[in-house]
Amino acid sequence: MPRDNIEHNIDEKKRNSLYISGDYTVIGICSKCGDYRWNKSISKDGNRVVCPSCGFEWKYKSLPLFVLTGCSGVGKTTTAQALLQRETTYLVMDADYFGFMGEDYQARAEQVLNLSKNLMQSGKPVLWTMAGALEKLDRTYHRRFFRNIHYLALVCDADDLRHRMMVGRAIQDEEWIKRSVEHNAYLMCHDSIEGVGYDRFDITGKSVDEVADYVDSWIREKWNAERES
Ligand SMILES: [Zn+2]
Repeated sequence: MPRDNIEHNIDEKKRNSLYISGDYTVIGICSKCGDYRWNKSISKDGNRVVCPSCGFEWKYKSLPLFVLTGCSGVGKTTTAQALLQRETTYLVMDADYFGFMGEDYQARAEQVLNLSKNLMQSGKPVLWTMAGALEKLDRTYHRRFFRNIHYLALVCDADDLRHRMMVGRAIQDEEWIKRSVEHNAYLMCHDSIEGVGYDRFDITGKSVDEVADYVDSWIREKWNAERES
């Protein structure tokens, strides 16, 4: 399916209320007629943005997007911090950055992709850590700007998870731990969530560096395969 045919489901009223009615980021504004609406399409070769108002086209870099998921407390942030200590060919971001937008996860998803499409004009794709609401990403206007979205879920056995949460992060909230254990159990024995397929890596007993090594190689493998195709 052409990427710009995917329905995005934030209506105009809601966009206005969120102050995201326009695309004020550089790559989304038509430099010829100034149109900044969420109305651009992508050329057939996938490498140019097309303005529907004046027909002007401009080059942009269409890269994949990477999402590191897993239950709360499993170690997404710790892994991301380890990756930031390395020289990487991608940028590392935390989707909780958009926490200021409240619990409107659809709007957050738009902004995750909107920011990413600008960041990746540096030639580097973006890796986001994101606990849930993965299915929102595919239902966005901004989805069309990406070649693919790849998801990797970190999982571990329940005892290891409890240990990571209670000892590693000093979390005592039983309800929080229970929710995480349940979400982790789901990710361990399913291959998709809300229709979104993901890869999985079992980090039971693994060190931070071992997990970071794996995530790094997973990204490079996916990206290399895309560049060759
Ligand atoms: Zn234009």
